[in-house]
Amino acid sequence: MNFDILTFESKLFKTIEKYRLIKNGDVIFVGLSGGKDSITTLRILQKYVENSPIKAKITGFHLNLGFDYSDELENFVKEICVNFNIECIISKVRDFNLNLQQISKYKRRPVCSICGQVKRYLMNKVPRDNGATKFATGHHLDDFLIFYMKNFIYKNFEWSFKILPKVKSSNPKLLTKIRPLIFASNEEIKNYVRSQNLPTFPKACPYSLGGGCFTDPRTLKFREVIEKTNGIVDNFKQEMMYSIITFNNKFASKLTREDNLKFCSLCGEPTSNEVCAFCRLIDLSKKLANRSI
Ligand code: SF4
Ligand code: ZN
Repeated sequence: MNFDILTFESKLFKTIEKYRLIKNGDVIFVGLSGGKDSITTLRILQKYVENSPIKAKITGFHLNLGFDYSDELENFVKEICVNFNIECIISKVRDFNLNLQQISKYKRRPVCSICGQVKRYLMNKVPRDNGATKFATGHHLDDFLIFYMKNFIYKNFEWSFKILPKVKSSNPKLLTKIRPLIFASNEEIKNYVRSQNLPTFPKACPYSLGGGCFTDPRTLKFREVIEKTNGIVDNFKQEMMYSIITFNNKFASKLTREDNLKFCSLCGEPTSNEVCAFCRLIDLSKKLANRSI
C-alpha cells in the first residue's frame, strides 16, 4: 500500500483542529516510552505547533519504571528530547521506593497491573506539578478499537466511554488527556516512523507480550476480528472510530462516575477511596522493606 506522508500528517492535523486538542498557552507533556507511537505523537504535535499561530509548549515526559533496561531507555529518551530541542522531565519509580516486581510477587498480581496504577498516578501528578495543562499519549486507532470492543463485550462500559480524542475531567487535579493519533492506524504509524527515520528504542518491556504495552493475550483475537471486518466493510476502522467518538461525546459524560471522586487523605490526589491506590502501594513497599509482612 502506498504511504503518503503529507496525507497522513494532514489527517492528524485535522484531528487536532477538529477536536481542539491544543489552545494558546498550553503546556503539553508528551509521554515518551521510546516506542514508535510516542515519537510520532511528539513529531506531529511539534510540527503542528511550529506551523500554526497557536502558541503552545511541548515537553517530553518519561517514567523510569526501575526495570533492568530502564536506565538505558531513560538515556535514549533524554537524547530524543535534546534532538527535538524540548525540555525533558523524568520521573523514577525507584525515587518513591517502589519496586514493581517485588509488589507484584507479594500481591500475586501481574506486574502490568501494578505498573498501570503507578503510571496513572505519576503521569498525572508529575506533569501537573511541573506546569502541564495537557498530557498527550500515543494510543492509536487500532489500540482504541480493540480496547473499545474488549471493554464493551466484558461490560466495562466506563472504559469504553473514555475513548475520545480529548478527555477532560471535572476534577481540577486530573489533567486533560489528548490523543492525536486516534485516527492513525498501527500500519500508518510504522510507515511514518520508517519514512521519517524517527528513532525508536530497540528493546521491549520484558512484560509485554508483543510491541508496546501489549499485555492481554485476548487482544490478538479482537485484533483479528477488527482486521477481518476492515477487509469486508469499506473504511470500517475510521467510520467505527467516528461513531464511537460521536456517541461518547453525546452520552459518555452522563454515564461516567467521575464526579464521585474524592481526594486521598494522605497525598490529596483524586481517588474513589479514602486512600489512593498509589499511597497504598507506597505503604506496602515500606512494610515489605521492613519485612513487617
Ligand atoms: Fe508496564 Fe507496559 Fe511493561 Fe506491562 S508491558 S510492565 S504495563 S510498561
Ligand atoms: Zn494518595
